[in-house]
Amino acid sequence: MTSVTNLGFPRIGPRRELKHALERYWKGEDSADTLQATAAALRAQHWQLQRQAGADVLPSNDFSLYDHVLDTAFLFDALPQRYRALADADPLAGYFAMARGVQTGGIDLRALEMTKWFDTNYHYIVPELHAGQEFALRGDKPVAQFLEARAAGFDTRPVLLGPVSFLLLSKTTDGSDRLALLERLLPVYAQLLERLHAAGAAWVQIDEPTLVLDLDEAAKAAFARAYAFLAQAPRSRLLLTTYFGALGDNLDLVARLQVEGLHVDLVRAPEQLDAVLQAWPKGRVLSAGLVNGRNVWRTNLDNALTLARYAQGHVGADNLWLAPSCALLHVPVDLEQEKALDAELKSWLSFARQKLGELRVLADALDGREGAEGPLAQQRARLESRRQSARVHRPEVARRLATLSEADSRRASPYAQRRVLQEQAFGLPVYPTTTIGSFPQTQQVRQARAQHKAGKLSDADYETFLEAETERCVRFQERIGLDVLVHGEYERNDMVEYFGEQLDGFAFTKLGWVQSYGSRCVKPPIIFGDVVRPKPMTVRWSRYAQSLTQRPMKGMLTGPVTVLQWSFVRDDQARSETCRQIALALRDEVNDLEAAGIGIIQIDEPAIREGLPLRRDAWSDYLNWAIEAFRICASGVGDATQIHTHMCYSEFNDIIDAVAAMDADVISIETSRSRMELLDAFVRFRYPNGIGPGVYDIHSPRVPSVEEMVELLRKARAVLSPEQLWVNPDCGLKTRGWDETRHALEQMVEAARRLRADLAQAA
Ligand code: GLN
Ligand code: ZN
Repeated sequence: MTSVTNLGFPRIGPRRELKHALERYWKGEDSADTLQATAAALRAQHWQLQRQAGADVLPSNDFSLYDHVLDTAFLFDALPQRYRALADADPLAGYFAMARGVQTGGIDLRALEMTKWFDTNYHYIVPELHAGQEFALRGDKPVAQFLEARAAGFDTRPVLLGPVSFLLLSKTTDGSDRLALLERLLPVYAQLLERLHAAGAAWVQIDEPTLVLDLDEAAKAAFARAYAFLAQAPRSRLLLTTYFGALGDNLDLVARLQVEGLHVDLVRAPEQLDAVLQAWPKGRVLSAGLVNGRNVWRTNLDNALTLARYAQGHVGADNLWLAPSCALLHVPVDLEQEKALDAELKSWLSFARQKLGELRVLADALDGREGAEGPLAQQRARLESRRQSARVHRPEVARRLATLSEADSRRASPYAQRRVLQEQAFGLPVYPTTTIGSFPQTQQVRQARAQHKAGKLSDADYETFLEAETERCVRFQERIGLDVLVHGEYERNDMVEYFGEQLDGFAFTKLGWVQSYGSRCVKPPIIFGDVVRPKPMTVRWSRYAQSLTQRPMKGMLTGPVTVLQWSFVRDDQARSETCRQIALALRDEVNDLEAAGIGIIQIDEPAIREGLPLRRDAWSDYLNWAIEAFRICASGVGDATQIHTHMCYSEFNDIIDAVAAMDADVISIETSRSRMELLDAFVRFRYPNGIGPGVYDIHSPRVPSVEEMVELLRKARAVLSPEQLWVNPDCGLKTRGWDETRHALEQMVEAARRLRADLAQAA
């Protein structure tokens, strides 16, 4: 009998119950007991739901109040010293201090760093370790939740983050080697495994997703040492769990590890099945990840069944388990909640609950159980309707893409020539000042949007409101003396959603939330079809704003790679193809802005770097199409039109040539927090075009002084030529309050003036 097993379920709840409970607790409205009760109720509800959906083996300890990597650090007592007193006095307060910092009652602790979980949009807390690090069990969350499940009638498989991945995902604050801590960590893992064994766990799922990355010899050796050590402990059987890619050159290593089962991702990397079957010793369990845990489409069950049969032929029926490709953390909970989606589109989709149902059908079919044929046929019909649908396939899009030539992704003239024309066109001072686009989205702005959406504010009244906000913003920028203005982006909810809502080929859910970090969730658009722009999207607002002022008004767009990265994308064509379609739609928008008299246009690409593939050898292919897509957007305009781009939270060192290849006339980047260190890459590369290294950290309510900004700018000026340097904040201002913004921008303009005065003096 083939088992359906799940690797992890979304924690946030079908209606973001966990988010709301956390926020009430943080505000002091709910007690810790109330929060814990909500969490326990959610866990019970999730186990129930998974069981009903058809899963035989349910995970436990996949739940987290904030993040599973933080849970792991906490569990092994890897607490930086500064949180210890608080955590000893009040564990929950200590835990949340690590997650999000605290600033109350005389305590002022910053949060631990947060970073992206592999190539997902989930962010984990980066544990801080040091050479003298000791580990010990603090609490017993995995055991407690295993027992909690048992008491509720569910026999579960506890999930742990494996020791080597835990270390590789951590950082040391003293520059020491993380893996040198392995020997100290392993006995504590062994102790935990022993406890789980004693509690009655037959299997433990041990996640080692770093096994799909490029690993150096030291990391490989660490895996061998770790699993040899853990083999000695009295313990449950281990399912070594890998996902997000192929094992590739790590497969030999994996096959030699002393574990009883292996999970592989056959959605991202179906081609690895043969090699895995060859390498994986007979008699051990293989868990086949056949349903995509990262996207929302119904699975091609016939294809999955072929893979499953093939695998079964090698490992035998009892040793094959069926599973999603990875934990279902990255998809929304339940499609059934979407009442507004039309039936056809809905029939193509599958969220966490439905995915377990798909696995059930697969297992039943594999075992030849009666009744499996009906659902298989139904699934075939759904896939066929999607394949044939006229809302998915718009022949004009393919035709247009086919006519694109190399020249369409190249500006007419090289930067040096464009610059001369742009200087004439705009007559900007040296060190021109600008902002990144959005201005504070006040309570009022959000309220007006919500009322408009609810039908309580008429279109006309909403427009009038937005016009007034925009005008106020323009007047403010004029008054403080900014050189290149923006309209403020008041009409936008989210930088991707705003465009997706206006493009054909995008759909939106009502409750399709996915955890981004902690209590923060995003609701990614679903790109289901060929992308078409029925009409201009931003021209009206840019034109209106330009009509208010003599100064240049910068048009503001979200770039194609960012739209792609922050959406659920089609699985029936390459990402690069979808990206080119978005690029074409945006190219039309850029051209329309130019025709409407907007001479400076910014195409934001904050997500370019996060799209990088996990394996280095796939980077250049990605960068080629990503950069090309940006250039398709940007290259339809005349030489005198100035194209800006903006990127944030990025390291540029290893992709600087790709950034330069975007050939934007001006790029603004985040640098203030690193005190301009991020500029190094641009300097070493001799980046030729305009560049605005952010001088105001908009992620903090702190207002930087004029002197601080002057100092940062002098640092930048020392390594860039005067014609290159722009003066701007790090990122958009939408999360800031007006008071701080006003103050900080006035000082920023003053800082630019001082720099200009330096120059005048030198001349
Ligand atoms: N133009 C956007 C804004 O100002 C850019 C946001 C971003 O980089 N994430 O909000
Ligand atoms: Zn930004």
